[in-house]
Amino acid sequence: MKLRHRFPVAIVVGVPGVGKTTVLSLAMEKLKDLGIKALVLNYGDYIFKALSEKGVVKTRDEVRRLSLRIQLEHQELAAELLIKDAESELSNSDVLIIDTHAVVKTSIGYWPGLPLHVVQRLKPDLIAVIEAPVEDIISRQLRDTTRYRKDLARPELVDELLKMTRYFAIASATLVGASVTFIKNLEGKADEAAEELANRVRALL
Ligand code: ATP
Ligand code: AMP
Ligand code: MG
Repeated sequence: MKLRHRFPVAIVVGVPGVGKTTVLSLAMEKLKDLGIKALVLNYGDYIFKALSEKGVVKTRDEVRRLSLRIQLEHQELAAELLIKDAESELSNSDVLIIDTHAVVKTSIGYWPGLPLHVVQRLKPDLIAVIEAPVEDIISRQLRDTTRYRKDLARPELVDELLKMTRYFAIASATLVGASVTFIKNLEGKADEAAEELANRVRALL
């Protein structure tokens, strides 16, 4: 089995509401300015699309509350579909960046977002963990009315999720020999986080 795809792959993870999607849209523009085509795919989009088409959920924040068997089945499907899209869109000099979660808080405990069956398909070169101070994450979770993250917006829980994200990211990276990097997304400074992420991604080429 091949260890890597023909294009480099970076996986971006972090606590819900830390700013992954925001930082990634800025990083994509920066890479474009450098002449690098980065395809950013959101793993949750694939899971949500499959589940909403079946009428199982109406919003993406309902997904983590479904039974684990259902989440597992769609987690596997998402990896397959996402890589198929990347294969058809990317040339060898482009980069794939995946916006996802190292760990998902489910009703029965912390559950890996990137277990063996997933990382073996995604084959990341790098896992970037986006982090921010606990209070800032909570205010972002509560401020963003486009999403429902109230169930997570407690200091002890966010603090634990930050730690769990680190542990699970390291565990997943170890399965496939990926590097791990930690990037701070400080309040009002998403642009700086994007710059740092773009630099790390550029170094993969
Ligand atoms: P999820 O995992 O749930 O998809 P996420 O990590 O992708 O969450 P975003 O949706 O990017 O998080 O950001 C959550 C909210 O925080 C948004 O309202 C966004 O505008 C805001 N935000 C992101 N980064 C910063 C920052 N550096 N300073 C202030 N607000 C920020
Ligand atoms: P997001 O918009 O990144 O929060 O993604 C929407 C939802 O999809 C998340 O809240 C999770 O329930 C689910 N999800 C995203 N990535 C993964 C993953 N790697 N494994 C399992 N579920 C995931
Ligand atoms: Mg997001």
